[in-house]
Amino acid sequence: MKVVDTVGDARAELAAARRAGWDVGLVPTMGFLHHGHRSLIERSVAECEFSIVTIFVNPLQFAAGEDLDSYPRDLGADLALARDVGADLVLAPTVEDMYRRRPATVVRLPELAADLEGAARPTHFDGVATVVAKLFNIVGPCRAYFGEKDYQQLVIVARMAADLSFPVDVVGCPTVREADGLAMSSRNSYLDPVERAAATVLHEALRAGADLVEAGERSPERVEAEMANVVAAEPKAELDYLVVRRADDLAPIAPLAGRLRLLGAVRVGKPRLIDNLGVDVPVA
Ligand code: AMP
Repeated sequence: MKVVDTVGDARAELAAARRAGWDVGLVPTMGFLHHGHRSLIERSVAECEFSIVTIFVNPLQFAAGEDLDSYPRDLGADLALARDVGADLVLAPTVEDMYRRRPATVVRLPELAADLEGAARPTHFDGVATVVAKLFNIVGPCRAYFGEKDYQQLVIVARMAADLSFPVDVVGCPTVREADGLAMSSRNSYLDPVERAAATVLHEALRAGADLVEAGERSPERVEAEMANVVAAEPKAELDYLVVRRADDLAPIAPLAGRLRLLGAVRVGKPRLIDNLGVDVPVA
């Protein structure tokens, strides 16, 4: 596995891979890799002849006052994990290398990015879409792997790729969880032991909502109230939102029908935790 820290060096490695006729898979990350990231890299290695992992804490997707400076980092452990899984190349560029100056071009998807995570973090998805567009142009991947854990991000990236005709398949990968249901996240490292125990409430709430839909409930309000009640019973958790939406575009839907996604965010101690679950209602 090669490790490079400049976009220029990555382009040179990738040009050689393409000359060899290899399918290139891309796994974009912010590092501090865990089993969730690992599953994405494994999928890329299984499906592509050449896999590149990028490690870049992208300042554009953090607002002032967020955790850009304290975001957890461990490049040595990340490289060991990527090597272990069989990645071919890691690009871990500096901010100066990625952004010679603050970009004047921004990729924005207002219909998808204003709601849910975008309501709490209004400029977040502009930063995500812009850096992913840059990575697609730097890497030229055939396939790019994203976690369902960040479901709204996955919807936005897939839509951006389709709208702007990037020749890349955006592949969504299932959320990897701890044994007690908590979705793995680099930010879980911020939780103290008491908060860590309380953090499972988000998955429990989503599960309760999914169970209600599976039992026949078709009112989004009642499903959302049930999920909110579960979080209300956990004093350490502060609810941001818990909703049920259409899976494809995250639009509200009533009565509930078709492919649905339950999505939520709660604050437990320092971190805001996000998670989601899919549930399908057969259309009669
Ligand atoms: P991040 O490093 O948080 O930007 O995440 C990089 C990629 O890994 C994104 O596509 C995430 O959705 C994905 N990811 C993060 N956590 C998980 C998880 N628990 N299961 C599956 N994918 C994940």
